[in-house]
Amino acid sequence: MQNNINAIWKIASSQIQLKISDKNFKVWFSKIKLISIDGNVATISCPNAFTSDFIQSNYLITTQQAISNAFGENVELAFTINKDNSVANNIDFPIFEESTKEVEIKKNNDSNLNPKYTMDNFVVGQSNRIAHAAALAIIQNPGQVYNPFFIYGGVGLGKTHLMQAIGNSLAKTNNANVLYISSEAFLNELVDAIQRGKTDNSRKKYRERDVLIIDDIQFISGKQRTQEEFFHIFNTLQQANKQIILASDRPPKDIQNLEERLVSRFEGGMVADIEMPDEETRLAILKKKCEEKNFLIDEDIIKLIADGNASNIRELEGLLTKLIANQNIAGKTLNKEEAAKIIGVSFKKKTRRLKPQDVINIICERFGVSQKEIKGQKRTSSIVLPRQVAMYILRTELNLSLIEVANIIRRKDHTTVIHAVDKIENMISTNTELKHQINEIKDNLR
Ligand code: ADP
Ligand code: MG
Repeated sequence: MQNNINAIWKIASSQIQLKISDKNFKVWFSKIKLISIDGNVATISCPNAFTSDFIQSNYLITTQQAISNAFGENVELAFTINKDNSVANNIDFPIFEESTKEVEIKKNNDSNLNPKYTMDNFVVGQSNRIAHAAALAIIQNPGQVYNPFFIYGGVGLGKTHLMQAIGNSLAKTNNANVLYISSEAFLNELVDAIQRGKTDNSRKKYRERDVLIIDDIQFISGKQRTQEEFFHIFNTLQQANKQIILASDRPPKDIQNLEERLVSRFEGGMVADIEMPDEETRLAILKKKCEEKNFLIDEDIIKLIADGNASNIRELEGLLTKLIANQNIAGKTLNKEEAAKIIGVSFKKKTRRLKPQDVINIICERFGVSQKEIKGQKRTSSIVLPRQVAMYILRTELNLSLIEVANIIRRKDHTTVIHAVDKIENMISTNTELKHQINEIKDNLR
């Protein structure tokens, strides 16, 4: 039983990990542990009361759902405090060793590159063809052709993988001095240098690099002084034909409060986006991951995952990991029905269970309007937009009929719904900020 409990906890925590930020996961979940399931009460042990309180007030439902899912039945949670958390500290998480977190970095050099991201294991499809072609060109001619190289796209679509793959390739074949850095670490360093009046040192430090890769550069938004400092570093490197590679969740011009001169620098090289891959590419990626993990799996089951509800590649991998873990517990190859139950059902069930009220609530919260306003008659644009987004999401995510949506939003005529859906579809094809906002809402609903 204890083995099973451990296995259930592994699956559950890998699910939790997919839902919350890496940082929060590390802080709150690395030292807690599922210790028993009695009837339908799952008991979790925490290292201290603070962690227990925090999880109960912030991650109760996430944790409960993840454990219920992994266990296969709904459970209630109970919390205990285990002062001797040496036990908890020693849990090994074999599933996570295979995970893709940037933190697991080989420390044998100071490039911060994770050797597992290579060009060879990056699968090319329509969704990333241009970004991939640019990457190859850069590997041939670093610092010369596309400088900077700016990659943008939603979370979990392969930006970090591709950037690191370029870095790994250049480090290996050109013996290049590469630095990969998260924008958080980069900003911290700059702030520190600025405060200590040592900006010269930091400029020099970056100038020594042949390739500078900064991830999630959108976080530089609004940080004026650091932007100024970065501008100098950028120029110094660019003038010396050092390759600069940046990734962001949106194109340069959509990064708010970004100095105009930086926008134009970012746009001055190559800007390429990465999108959600089509089905064929999703299948190819999953197959590649199975190969890497030495996991034999039925083609039909891979298809099941690829067709599921995952909204990005990281989620696809999460489903695969869940399947592998379950198969390990079962100690036998899973058949299609069993696999479907493990991956498909839980995901699909969630979307079906989604209630229109959940959609209304989240939209009211995100757009700062009241439910009354959404369902009311006012035509001010600050209310019309969220109202139309609500109709769009009810229709596309919950698959409700036009009439049902019209009833929920209290419109007399269902053509209003058709109009709203068209309008939002048009808008998101040009307005990346809105697209991003809607994707976030969808992610949250899922
Ligand atoms: P992002 O930085 O865009 O959020 P990541 O680069 O971290 O996304 O990718 C998430 C996961 O998906 C990683 O495990 C990565 O290896 C995998 N992945 C994404 N795109 C591809 C691809 N084209 N081929 C193979 N694996 C991919
Ligand atoms: Mg990334």
